[in-house]
Amino acid sequence: MRLHEYQAKELFAAYGIPVQRGVVVDRAEDVLTLDLRYPVVLKAQVLVGGRGKAGGVQLAATPEEAREKAARILGMEIRGERVRRLLVVEAARIDREYYLAFVVDRSSRRLTLVASAEGGVDIEEVARRTPERIVKLAVDPALGFHPFHGRWVARRLGLSGPVLGQFAEVSCNLYRLACERDAELAEINPLALCEGRWLAVDAKLVVDDNARPRQPDLPADEETTELERMAREYDLSYVELDGDIAIIGNGAGLVMSTLDMVAHFGGRPANFLDVGGGASTEAMRRALDIVLRKPGVRALFINIFGGITRCDDVARAIASAPPPVPTSIRLTGTNEEEGRRILEQAGIFAFTDPEEAARRAVALARGH
Ligand code: GDP
Ligand code: MN
Repeated sequence: MRLHEYQAKELFAAYGIPVQRGVVVDRAEDVLTLDLRYPVVLKAQVLVGGRGKAGGVQLAATPEEAREKAARILGMEIRGERVRRLLVVEAARIDREYYLAFVVDRSSRRLTLVASAEGGVDIEEVARRTPERIVKLAVDPALGFHPFHGRWVARRLGLSGPVLGQFAEVSCNLYRLACERDAELAEINPLALCEGRWLAVDAKLVVDDNARPRQPDLPADEETTELERMAREYDLSYVELDGDIAIIGNGAGLVMSTLDMVAHFGGRPANFLDVGGGASTEAMRRALDIVLRKPGVRALFINIFGGITRCDDVARAIASAPPPVPTSIRLTGTNEEEGRRILEQAGIFAFTDPEEAARRAVALARGH
């Protein structure tokens, strides 16, 4: 789960990492009454990177200019995400931009520090063009990350004097935050040097979803949609995509191959839901309700291979509430005859061959 910049910065501040004073607003006129020193920087709060390049980060010298620019940014869509909130901060006078992050490195299975004196820009780009400008240090989890590590990194970045020790302090704090908050990534880009002091001008924090139960005070997850949350409550695994064919299957492997088949025949899944093994009539009813709520669904594809899940249970759910969109069903396995009979009585046809059913689903979505 990714946090917004302002949420990450609240945590940064709690861990002693210096950030600018700022306020979050959701209406342009609210910037007129803020108790902030001008100039300010207006920053779109969206969960995608590269906001600066997209015009989502702007400087304003006066309240009136801030209001105008806030109105413009609040109307923007950045990489598919509508801007609903702005973080307004007192502008920093930046002398130089660095990069600092702790990231879980899966190959070494350690939190790894990544730092560079080429900050503010896309770090992948720096890694590609001038890999020698990047400092890396895999942290031994038993030993932890200590000021002497931080000073070693700082020297490699060419730092000296008081800012060297302060860099070590910032990196220790960021490491502590990353550990205690189960971060997959804790990134400051840029970590800026402003008149001899460090400032986290940007903040990115991605928390391991598996750690949610250990992190009860995290803000609500804004990456999952309303329907995804609803499915989770019923223990159904559901994911949204952006096509027009809703997909229900039983078992993760079957669902994945169903997505592949649909794509193979030129269709685009709107979402997919795995009812799991041993799905009851009730679970199937909920599944139908959830996938069909998604706007823009033009066809439904139900692919069931009965094992522990019984075809008659599935058929009962479909027959009791026939889907309001054109539907293609593939049904085989346990209690298949009974399932088929229930569907036939309701005037619903079911395929046995998954490919035929997939092709039909794609045709239905095209209105054939
Ligand atoms: P991103 O584009 O989503 O990574 O957003 P950032 O918060 O990193 O801002 C993009 C860029 O805007 C930074 O790299 C800075 O160069 C610039 N910027 C952001 N805040 C300030 C500020 O307070 N003062 C100055 N001078 N520049 C800023
Ligand atoms: Mn940034």
